[in-house]
Amino acid sequence: MIVLGIETSCDESGIALYDSQKGLMADALYSQIEMHTEYGGVVPELASRDHIQRVLPLINQVLEKAGITRKEIDAVAYTKGPGLIGALMVGACIGRSMAWALGVPSVGVHHMEGHLLAPMLEENPPEFPFLALLVSGGHTQLVRVDGIGQYELLGESVDDAAGEAFDKVAAMLELGYPGGPKVSKLAQSGTEGRFRFPRPMCDRPGLDFSFSGLKTFTLNTVAACKKEGDLTEQDRADIAWAFEDAVVDTLALKCRRALRQTGLKQLVIAGGVSANRRLRHQLEAMAVKEGGSLRYARPEFCTDNGAMIAYAGCQRLLAGQNEPLEVAPMPRWNMETLEAVNSESEG
Ligand code: ATP
Ligand code: MG
Ligand code: FE
Repeated sequence: MIVLGIETSCDESGIALYDSQKGLMADALYSQIEMHTEYGGVVPELASRDHIQRVLPLINQVLEKAGITRKEIDAVAYTKGPGLIGALMVGACIGRSMAWALGVPSVGVHHMEGHLLAPMLEENPPEFPFLALLVSGGHTQLVRVDGIGQYELLGESVDDAAGEAFDKVAAMLELGYPGGPKVSKLAQSGTEGRFRFPRPMCDRPGLDFSFSGLKTFTLNTVAACKKEGDLTEQDRADIAWAFEDAVVDTLALKCRRALRQTGLKQLVIAGGVSANRRLRHQLEAMAVKEGGSLRYARPEFCTDNGAMIAYAGCQRLLAGQNEPLEVAPMPRWNMETLEAVNSESEG
């Protein structure tokens, strides 16, 4: 089964073709980052309008890359939510209409299920059951995963997502948007131990997170440096180092706690922040020490992409899911309410 995947939940138009037998055939991505940069964040209306212009050309691009025609598409998967309503609407309308025109089934995919399953596209994919840490721009969640659609939320951020905190700290350090990779790069020239940032909610039991306090702490540290003169390049690098250290340490501590609590051995990280090198190294060391292992996707499949939607959609389509003609994007959507997919029905 060849599935066309369409991702348009935020500021990236991601398109891919996934073949249930042969794997990923082609993928293409257009990021609107430059367009939103001058506003310091994503402008929803601009995002929707841009998706309208990008999606069809990108679909043609992946068809060409894969060397197939539209008629060879067996099904269409699009991101149904969560995300920006206008942006979701574009992908859903194009995806659903195209499936109708081609006379093939279609399915609306949960964006976070897409992220969660992205590591399945790699060699040596994770095996159920496993513990997943979803760390992206809008989510920080620990999830017990027993199969596709079998998700138990064990803990989540009570305020900002880890990725959001990275982006805000980047703005404070005048690094621009999106900040994650930029903070991480700057942190490489930081001095270990000059600043010590708090590890929020680590001194009490439970698996929830809180990252908004780290923003305030960063802001105060920047202000303290400025009191002593200009904020130097080294100051900024040292702050970036300490911030990243605190986030990574906090995530690692909660993951270890969740592994011990559940008895699970395999840890999977997904979402934009899972591209972070320090996070990968520290979690890998922790998981191995706990007698387990760590899995993640290649960096370009950690952030938003069409391949993860094509893959997740394919699993649901193979299980017989097929949506009616109406499209109903879900700007908010709890992953725990998803239907379980019976892996026996593979065909
Ligand atoms: P969600 O998936 O929750 O709806 P989103 O789609 O905006 O949110 P993603 O595309 O998964 O989020 O990830 C983007 C986030 O990942 C941004 O906040 C970005 O700063 C962060 N990020 C990307 N690369 C890195 C990195 N190397 N280190 C830290 N953070 C990173
Ligand atoms: Mg994005
Ligand atoms: Fe995302």
